[in-house]
Amino acid sequence: MSLRIGIIGCGAIGQDHARRLHFKLSGASVVALNDINLEATQAFSLASGINAKVYANYEDLIQAPDVDALLVASWGDAHEEQVLACINAGKPVFCEKPLATSAAGGLRIVEAEVKHGKNLVQVGFMRRYDAGYRALKKTIDAGAIGDVLMAHCAHRNPSVPENYVGDMGITDTHVHELDVLRWLLNDDYVTAQVVQGRKSRNSNGNLHDPMMVLLETTQGIRIDTEIFVTCRFGYDIQCHVVGETGVASLPEPASVALRSGGRQSTEILMDWKQRFIDSYDVELQEWLEDIKVGLVNGPTAWDGYFASATAEACVEARHSKQIVPIRIANRPAFYDRG
Ligand code: NAP
Repeated sequence: MSLRIGIIGCGAIGQDHARRLHFKLSGASVVALNDINLEATQAFSLASGINAKVYANYEDLIQAPDVDALLVASWGDAHEEQVLACINAGKPVFCEKPLATSAAGGLRIVEAEVKHGKNLVQVGFMRRYDAGYRALKKTIDAGAIGDVLMAHCAHRNPSVPENYVGDMGITDTHVHELDVLRWLLNDDYVTAQVVQGRKSRNSNGNLHDPMMVLLETTQGIRIDTEIFVTCRFGYDIQCHVVGETGVASLPEPASVALRSGGRQSTEILMDWKQRFIDSYDVELQEWLEDIKVGLVNGPTAWDGYFASATAEACVEARHSKQIVPIRIANRPAFYDRG
């Protein structure tokens, strides 16, 4: 059975996902597209060879009888209303992060899904599908380092565009750590603190780069994450988990070890897309297999809500310079797994 997919939001990642679903993965074809840039989307539909029907209105696309499932890759601010419309139509939806730009918005989606009575929503936190993170989780879950005590992480980007400002280090960048660390450590967060020191000369006017986010979990695990998005030297993701009897680290991406010219070196990737390209494929292929049998095994609406609520607390902590409690609604039993 081939699933007929409709995509809402055909910018950079929407187009990547459209090609991936239509040409690369198995069991799906993209039959419908929508974006506020209608002409550009029509041009993409033809030029890519997908030749999907282009809708001026996302609601019509969601309701279309020949659309089985949706992928939302529009602007973060539009996700909530678009995901709610998919739930109302009773159709599975894969929503790129963030699920919602506020905790309240994420909770409205959780409540709508619970009311609907069936898991429909998956959130695009692709790191859970990265081979390195999966190997790290397996090592920790097997007890190889004993009980976890701390984690030291870094999210480094060579540069960001001019419109990357203010709190985006948290809401756009750190949100990936917020999801993957909960999953990795099987734990939830209780407090957040953000500290900022010397500002890099490479920060644009409204950006204060780098920053450090400190989280505490329900079990008392302490996590520090450096967010440094103008580091120039590469796209560098680090995660070192410290346990009672050892340290487990995220593997580096495979790279040729070069000995030449009196130096020993390995390449550092420059681009997040290269770093996580395989995980996008795995993520969407597994999503297709799951929704065919009516399941959601990836990050749920609850996980999306949790990430939005924690990001909101981190933003508050950044501005107040205080340790901020992370207030989370009661988790509906609906989201218990197996
Ligand atoms: P983008 O290139 O700006 O694409 C978003 C597209 O959606 C644009 O064409 C935009 O039009 C359109 N749009 C905005 N509001 C819309 C609406 N209400 N209905 C339909 N279309 C709408 O951004 P992007 O980089 O593809 O990112 C899209 C989403 O994916 C963001 O939430 C981003 O955080 C997420 N993302 C996730 C990852 C990941 O690693 N998981 C990576 C990249 C992006 P305009 O340009 O006219 O606004």
